Amino acid sequence: MNTAYLSMGSNIGNRLQHLKQAVQLLHEHPAITVLDVSSVYETEPLGLTEQAKFLNIAVNLETSLEALELLNVCQSIENKLGRMRKIRWGPRTVDLDILLYNHDVLQLENLLIPHLRMHERAFVLVPLVEINPEVKNPVTGTLYRDEPAMQEDGVVLWKKVQRVEEFLQQD
Ligand code: ATP
Ligand code: MG
Ligand code: MG
Repeated sequence: MNTAYLSMGSNIGNRLQHLKQAVQLLHEHPAITVLDVSSVYETEPLGLTEQAKFLNIAVNLETSLEALELLNVCQSIENKLGRMRKIRWGPRTVDLDILLYNHDVLQLENLLIPHLRMHERAFVLVPLVEINPEVKNPVTGTLYRDEPAMQEDGVVLWKKVQRVEEFLQQD
């Protein structure tokens, strides 16, 4: 069995509903068990800053899928929830990125693990570290909680979440 951490974000329409639907679809996949979900954080957009704020979460899952198969599942969930792929870093109903897969380092054409920019993004690190404070960068061995980006502003606790079931049930 493999362990993976994902980051999810939404900044269009009912953002919480999009995140819930994405977690539900992951959970319903026969080869995936969602073990843990972080609290929900509201975050300032980076890059294209003239867009709505995001809701972000991190997810820990167990899967028998290979990393590339997991990427395919993530992309099909993005498509199912109506993501428009026109503008990179632009508004999206939902973005699912694979942060970590076991302790593997992968450099494939369409899949880089650890996610290339995760260590410099507070909106990724804060939810990830909430789920598991001990998680380390598999390349450098640095604890993600020690990354300077953890201290940045712009990531605010929006809804406290303690269990996956609670997350999926609450409104
Ligand atoms: P960013 O990657 O900076 O967060 P983004 O999530 O908006 O930007 P996308 O449009 O979702 O970017 O994805 C662009 C491409 O990134 C995808 O086609 C995918 O093949 C590639 N990619 C590389 N590594 C990963 C990863 N770890 N998780 C998800 N996608 C990845
Ligand atoms: Mg992304
Ligand atoms: Mg993405």
